[in-house]
Amino acid sequence: MTAAPPVARRRLAPAVLIAVGCFALGLGAGALSSAALADGDAAAEPTTSAAGEAVPRVTASGAPDVSAGEGTVPAVEVTTADIDGPGSITVVVNKVRPLQPEQYAPEDLVTVADVPGDATMREEAAAAMTALHAAADAEGAGFAISTAYRSHSAQANLYAAYAAEQGADAADRFSARAGYSEHQTGLAADIRADGCNLEPCFADTAAGRYVAEHAWEHGFVVRYPPDSEDVTGYIYEPWHLRYVGLETAAAMHESGIATLEEHFGLDPAPEYR
Ligand SMILES: [Zn+2]
Repeated sequence: MTAAPPVARRRLAPAVLIAVGCFALGLGAGALSSAALADGDAAAEPTTSAAGEAVPRVTASGAPDVSAGEGTVPAVEVTTADIDGPGSITVVVNKVRPLQPEQYAPEDLVTVADVPGDATMREEAAAAMTALHAAADAEGAGFAISTAYRSHSAQANLYAAYAAEQGADAADRFSARAGYSEHQTGLAADIRADGCNLEPCFADTAAGRYVAEHAWEHGFVVRYPPDSEDVTGYIYEPWHLRYVGLETAAAMHESGIATLEEHFGLDPAPEYR
């Protein structure tokens, strides 16, 4: 994880917003183009405004973070990311944002090729997972998938089992209720390495270290980063990867903002309403 610098970047928010407001029309197609990220190298070099101020680059999905509540400059809509549609690769699902409909099931599930585990994900996410695995494996950091897509009923059964075993309060810290799970989107996967399955030790495996550093290059984020339970509603899960697409993953890598909630300026989701 590169979770360090969000504070410094966040303090820039008002300036960014002013600059965007002044120069929204001046941001050429190049600055907003996803093609700029197609090589996986989301350069962080600042552009320079007409007034000579350094202006952090704004990408199509890299909406400036306004969650800190600083200033009153209205945010300019620079993102076209769909965070509501259950079939959107940028859908945000958490304890206050259930899937709509809660019974949603993707239509383009495929088996993730060339990754042990026989898991299924949506087609685009599966291809990205295959590529991530190949890159990791080439560095001696291969992994398997424990589970990826889980249907509404499978999630209901899993949560019920955890709740029966450990109580609902404990289960809610690591397992989603049906309709509230990223696994139901077909965009998330729990991965494992030898000797460590769904445990904190995964972060210290070669695979865990690799995905923390490189998953974004293939459009994934470690969805439940450390010290973010009050935002995401879940304990640190170094094994849970969520496909969000290269634009969003690169923008978050560049900004250092570690959660989708903060990236998209959403309310924290520590618990169910
Ligand atoms: Zn998971």
